[in-house]
Amino acid sequence: MRLDLCGVRGSTAAPGAEFLRYGGHTSCLAVSHDGAEGPALILDAGTGIRAASALFGGGAFRGTILLTHLHWDHLQGLPFFAAGDREDSNISLLLPEQPDGADAVSTLARAMSPPHFPMEPTQLRGDWSFASIAPGETQIAGFTVLAREIPHKGGRTFGYRISDQHSTLSYMPDHRPTAFGPGPDGFGEYHDAALELVSGSDLLVHDAQLLREELAAEQLFGHSCGEYALGLARRAGCPAVLLFHHRPDRTDSALDEIARRFAKDPEVTLAAQGAVVNL
Ligand SMILES: [Zn+2]
Ligand SMILES: [Zn+2]
Repeated sequence: MRLDLCGVRGSTAAPGAEFLRYGGHTSCLAVSHDGAEGPALILDAGTGIRAASALFGGGAFRGTILLTHLHWDHLQGLPFFAAGDREDSNISLLLPEQPDGADAVSTLARAMSPPHFPMEPTQLRGDWSFASIAPGETQIAGFTVLAREIPHKGGRTFGYRISDQHSTLSYMPDHRPTAFGPGPDGFGEYHDAALELVSGSDLLVHDAQLLREELAAEQLFGHSCGEYALGLARRAGCPAVLLFHHRPDRTDSALDEIARRFAKDPEVTLAAQGAVVNL
């Protein structure tokens, strides 16, 4: 499969000259089948989904948008997704089943409707469907997808494992493993759901919003440090880690500094907007 990193930032977009190399768009990853002309699956709809439109060669998106959770940085690009908001699009949008039983459209509309926003999800142009998914394994857009609930903060959050016949991707952009305790390394517990999602993966794309020294003061905001992602990948036998969901005030030079911390760990790379990964 091919991954296009369309947005790698967490919390809120980060425009400006200090953010050009790693990019300022919030979470969005486009996944294509081997040899396909464009992506079949889009993970999260942060502002990066605007950049995803360029992957369709001027055509419409006909595929699935799969959300990990409903926070703004994973949703607010949706009405600005030009390849989706057009008459010839055909899109299935899937999000985690909500604990209160609310359906997918009304859950989305809590953030996307007047007075917060001028239109509702059902007013997007094209053929859209909206549904909730439960934890478990299912077929989505030609991929086998395993969904598991993982701890974050404020709203139910899923991590995903996405496989085709050749390769497997694990995606956990927002994850607070310290919810289950400090774990053996002090960065959070290597809990069963996380290990299951990463087992058998070729690449882990994981929350690295925090530095290890920020964890004690800031872990209540719901995030991880890169050392946790690396520890999880090693325990699960995953050979490559992409540190993702960079804090919005982390400039290019601050992210370069983080990259130097992991220079001794060849499996670790920092996600940068516009990068392509072939698995
Ligand atoms: Zn986020
Ligand atoms: Zn979040």
